[in-house]
Amino acid sequence: MNKRMILMSMKASIITGPEKSEIVEIAIPSISAEEVLIRIKVCGVCASELHSWLEGGYGRRPILGHEPVGIIEKVGSQVQGFEVGDRVTGLIQNAFAHYAKVNYRLIVKVPEVLDDLEALGEPLSCLMSGADRTPVSPGDDVAVIGAGFMGLGFLQLMALKGAGRIIAVDMREESLEHAKRFGADEVYTPQNVKPEYKVTEWRHMDQGIKGMDVSVDATGSQGGLQLAGEMTGVHGVLSVVGFHQGNGGLRNVNMELWNWKAITVINAHERRDAVHIKQMEAGLKLIANKKLNMKDLITHVYNLDEIDKAYDAIKSKPAGFIKSVIKMD
Ligand SMILES: [Zn+2]
Repeated sequence: MNKRMILMSMKASIITGPEKSEIVEIAIPSISAEEVLIRIKVCGVCASELHSWLEGGYGRRPILGHEPVGIIEKVGSQVQGFEVGDRVTGLIQNAFAHYAKVNYRLIVKVPEVLDDLEALGEPLSCLMSGADRTPVSPGDDVAVIGAGFMGLGFLQLMALKGAGRIIAVDMREESLEHAKRFGADEVYTPQNVKPEYKVTEWRHMDQGIKGMDVSVDATGSQGGLQLAGEMTGVHGVLSVVGFHQGNGGLRNVNMELWNWKAITVINAHERRDAVHIKQMEAGLKLIANKKLNMKDLITHVYNLDEIDKAYDAIKSKPAGFIKSVIKMD
């Protein structure tokens, strides 16, 4: 390989089979007039891509990774507001690689005071837009079901929105400890949730059982959704933050219960890029001003050739695990 070839190629990690990744040498992406080329520094490993890794990328040999922070290396002729050397994050795909390209409208600058690891843009905007779409009034009782990365981020934002009491629920004792650390007032395993926190029958209303003003499903699982439905009080809000995958996306819900309780069900996901970008900037401001702690949610750091280990950690959850990040060498 001559020197010119080396300069034009980069390392990327592609999925080659079920639970199997490989480092390949491929061309550095070329950019169009509105795009920037980003040298990736770190990239979060997202549970939303776990299924793709488990299934072997569905035969497509994809480059995963959509939660990077990096430095602009090149700007297209029509790019506005960004220059070479800017540290950015954003809605950027194929980022388990040394370089990725993206339209400049999909990135934001990272404030200088932030560490790379706490500035992952995409999960931040998911949390922020989800919290924005979830109505909380000052003093509300809020349950967050699932105290993984998303749940722990979300419960901090519920506190910022004025929740009077935050109840975290998770199957793992260790996650409940994390939840306490990040601001939960009470923590329970699903089996131990107090009966007065659930409204599942008419008579509960007569007995003055209120349930939660807001219940958040941050699990993406059948059990989490069901429990959130049970904990939501009459005319309360059920907010679906977790990404529901598996079983063809199908879930069973007790529609009769949801119906008579007159609950408001919110799908707290966001698909509009412009909203994501706005929420990302707002989230970075919260982190910079120490109102939101994302840094302590990053517990495991791996190299690019250790992506299988990083996904396996999402599956097996080693001691202390909340979220893993890939650091480029
Ligand atoms: Zn993600």
